[in-house]
Parts: sequence; structure tokens; C-alpha cells
Amino acid sequence: AEEGRRELDAAARALPAATTDGHRIEIGANINLAEQAPFALAQGAEGVGLMRTEFLFLERAESPTEEDQYQAYRAMAEAMGDRPLVIRALDIGGDKQVSYLDLPREENPFLGVRGARLLLRRPELLVPQLRALYRAARDGARISVMFPMITSEPELIALRETAGRIRAEMKAPEIPLGIMIEVPSAALLADRLARHADFFSIGTNDLTQYTLAIDRQNPVLAPEADSLHPAVLALIAATVKGAHAHGRWVGVCGGIAGDPFGAGLLTGLGVDELSMTPRDIPAVKARLRGAALPELQALAERALAMTDADQVRALALDPQVAS
Ligand code: PEP
Ligand code: MG
Repeated sequence: AEEGRRELDAAARALPAATTDGHRIEIGANINLAEQAPFALAQGAEGVGLMRTEFLFLERAESPTEEDQYQAYRAMAEAMGDRPLVIRALDIGGDKQVSYLDLPREENPFLGVRGARLLLRRPELLVPQLRALYRAARDGARISVMFPMITSEPELIALRETAGRIRAEMKAPEIPLGIMIEVPSAALLADRLARHADFFSIGTNDLTQYTLAIDRQNPVLAPEADSLHPAVLALIAATVKGAHAHGRWVGVCGGIAGDPFGAGLLTGLGVDELSMTPRDIPAVKARLRGAALPELQALAERALAMTDADQVRALALDPQVAS
């Protein structure tokens, strides 16, 4: 019986995340190492929605070479077969101790030179990473690249220009270039950013931190740092609107994507893809397969009108909300 149940579970995990009325959400895994791919696929991942590349740079004495990075990206692409793989460019800042980077000490590293700001100031980091990514693309890897911590159009344009120049030098194929939406300025300007980005992935961990002015590492405030706060939801709604106006897809790769109730709400807000830690995938798929899109849209409407995250979460207990 145990064996039979396991087989049934495996079959259920392989089903797409389609609502009862057939609206399909893409399900990605947040994984960094090729060795994690088999487990992610067994949980029902359809691709990798977030490969954080920081791990290649942390806990070592010198920067990884272009070759080191190329090997890591290729290995992940091979492990994922023909499935989509979104690789995030280095997102590091003054909160991390990385001796060889010589990052200046900052009073507020989360408000300092991190993500795209660092990449734009340090071509010796950006260029080898882009070269490694385009080498993998030249081998046929189905990769997309996204840039973290974008706050303005000029940043995105400058990063795209560098990528375009490297691609041309290397005679590599075009790959989709997207951005993380994790700062309120980016969500508010989504309509304009969408003109220059092939896709968006909303980083709700940082978007919540920057919207609510709560340090994401502050243990005292952790219960209040809830991504279901209506202000965060309003920024997600604005992001979806801006992206869809230009035919771009929008994912969410922050922690709330892996919460079944949150996943339903995000679907109701119009998000196209959810990427999460692999062990969260089965419950999220089950939640989405148990609801109809209009129900989730009605839930999202009600959530946007609430006064705080606790009220939003209380909607899960409402008999009118299927969960
Ligand atoms: C996020 O900010 O939600 C995100 C996915 O990126 P990270 O957690 O790596 O900052
Ligand atoms: Mg982030």
C-alpha cells in the first residue's frame, strides 16, 4: 500500500499546475547545483526559475574563473535537459564577506552597492559571468539570464548593452534577458522596464523588505515581514499589469511562491510562473489544481482591499475561499 501511495504521489507531482478551468502556471525550482536537479524534477519542477550564482563566489579565496562558471552553468543545463533554466547574475553586496572583492564596509549594506549596482561598477565580475553564460548558450543550453536589484531603466539598458556587446563578440545566440523586480521603484516603473526586459521575476523576499522597511534578517520583526501585506500585493499587481501590457511573462521566485495559499493568490493576481524550493512544489501544484481561476481572481481582489497581512491570511479560513 505504501508503495502504491508513493507511485500515486509521483504521478500527481508530474501533473501540470493547471486550475480546474485549465489555466496553466509554470512551476520552477530554486536550485543552485546540478546535483539538486533530479530531486527537483521528482517533485514536479518544470524548469529552474532561479539559479542563484552567489554560491560560486562565496567561501573561496579568489573569484571563480569564466571556465569555472561555464562548467557550472553547463552542468545545470544538462541536468535539466531541454527544460527552461533561469540563471541570475551575481547578487552580492556588503552584507557578505568576500575577501577578494574588497567590498567597502557600508552602514546599510541592503541599501548599498549590491546586485546590479555592483555588476555595473565591477566589469571584472560582470564580463566573465556573461561570457560564461553565452558560452553555455552557444552549446545549445536553453538559458535565460536575469539581473538582480534593478531600480531604474538606465541600469537595465546599460546591462543589456554589455550583454549585447559580449554576445556579438562571441557570435553567441540571443538569450532572453530578464530582471528581478524586488524594489518598489522597479514595480512602480514596470510598464517602462518591460520595454527593455524579456521577462520579470518578482523577488518577494526583497520586495517585502524594501516595501515595509523591515530588514529581512531582523528576527524581532520577522512575523511582520509578510509578503502577503496588501502593499506588497499592490506592487505585484502593478508589475503584472506593466509586464502583460508588453507581452512579457512574470514569475515570482521569493518564498511566498512556495506557500500554497500565497501561490493561489499570486495566480489570482495574474502571475505566470512560480519558482520555489523543490520540496514546496507538490503542495503548490495540489492547491492550484484544486481551484478555478475566477475564484483566485476574486480572492486576489479581496486581498488587495485588506488592511494588513493577517487579514489577508484570514481569507484562507473564509468558507467562500476554496483552499
Ligand atoms: C528575493 O529577493 O525574493 C529573491 C528571490 O532573491 P534573494 O532571496 O536571493 O535575495
Ligand atoms: Mg533578492
